[in-house]
Amino acid sequence: MPVLAAEELTTVAARLEDAGVRMVSGSVVDPAGVVRAKHVPARRVGAFHTAGMGASPSWNVFCVDNAIAFTPRFGVVGDLRLRADLAALRLLGDGVAWAPAEMFEQDGAPAPVCTRGLLRRTVAELAQRGLEARVGCEVEMVLTPRGGPGWNAYGLGALLDVERYVLDLLAAADRAGLPVEQIHAEYGDGQLEFSIGPTDPLTAADHVVLARLIACRVARRHDVAVSFSPLPFAGGSGNGAHQHLSLSRAGAPLFSGGDGPHGLTADGAAAIGGLIAGLPELTAVFAGSVLSPHRLQPGHWSGAYACWGRENREAAVRLCADTRGNPHGASVELKCIDPSVNPYLATAVFLGLAADGLDRGATLPPEVTVAPDALSPEDAARTATVRLPADQRSALDALEGSDLARRLVGEETLEALLAVRRYELDTYGGQDAAEVAETLRYAWSA
Ligand code: GLU
Ligand code: MG
Repeated sequence: MPVLAAEELTTVAARLEDAGVRMVSGSVVDPAGVVRAKHVPARRVGAFHTAGMGASPSWNVFCVDNAIAFTPRFGVVGDLRLRADLAALRLLGDGVAWAPAEMFEQDGAPAPVCTRGLLRRTVAELAQRGLEARVGCEVEMVLTPRGGPGWNAYGLGALLDVERYVLDLLAAADRAGLPVEQIHAEYGDGQLEFSIGPTDPLTAADHVVLARLIACRVARRHDVAVSFSPLPFAGGSGNGAHQHLSLSRAGAPLFSGGDGPHGLTADGAAAIGGLIAGLPELTAVFAGSVLSPHRLQPGHWSGAYACWGRENREAAVRLCADTRGNPHGASVELKCIDPSVNPYLATAVFLGLAADGLDRGATLPPEVTVAPDALSPEDAARTATVRLPADQRSALDALEGSDLARRLVGEETLEALLAVRRYELDTYGGQDAAEVAETLRYAWSA
């Protein structure tokens, strides 16, 4: 994390004072996907950055319902420091500022379990190979109680029902420098989606947290609540948290301008090959909560199959080719991600799988041009299409047995992630989906 010099800290403090900021919040996302934070009066912002605020190691094994899944590494003894990255500070208005935080040991060494630190290292490793990544994230959420008499998917009226909320949300996003690209009424009752413009991967993951913070903060003023659960209501539409990735080397894109399918370069094809090969083992990173398998189903546009296809919304990897209709250039969208997961971790593993494919020249399987659940067994085999783990236990077992996961995520994070997700499985795995959806409806809200 870039450490600011004393005079830079003075500049930040002056900026906060000018803006009337009284409180600075610094957040981390835990392995269960919950955003946790500490807050300081604005005059203490320097201490938040340099010494950090204390957090027990057990912050990494807090569960979605506030139980603690202690492990040998993560217990009650010890102290981690949450240090706010002031280079990423945003002003939210009304006296509040926010910055993402990273976890450090007391001696100042980065804590291995810190997922923002992991993403930072992953980006640096890509840079060493001459690669630059850009990531854009989509935010889906359900507003409760829903407004108006009915909700038509993508309906104009549906959005107008919540127009005031949406206008306040857009204003708050502008104020905080969150580059919203578009917003619409999604498929499910009360479901909204907005997408955030592409940027560097660390900022993109920060944007996911900022978006959630803003959406929930504005909601409180409108007496509504916002659910970021993968399954807000049993039988209803799930919330996704899709991410778009583009890669380039020395300014030349990898997913366009080549002579592979739809203009993929050889490296771009290998990156997609790596993604598809690794997804089944890493599903628990992208969709690992007890509610995730209810969303990760065929027919839900959630990418339940490891395969790829141009503009195929049922494939886990959707290729958005470089066309006039796609002004940001070609990207691959990873559709299986949902909002119950840690966005830093998900982005780091998304990049890590692509880089792994690139490094070993992974084979790009043939494209899937239909909904993958309609493939004949022969076509599924020909395109190497497999269903991603369909239940939480299989996803966790696959993760636990994966050397690739260990390499991409590290032992510490893997231990914490498995502990909190196995707790969910043991506690809620046997319950009725409607009951669990209700209990955990706001577990991932800010
Ligand atoms: N709500 C769907 C999901 O759970 C995505 C719909 C869409 O493609 O936007 O991922
Ligand atoms: Mg959507």
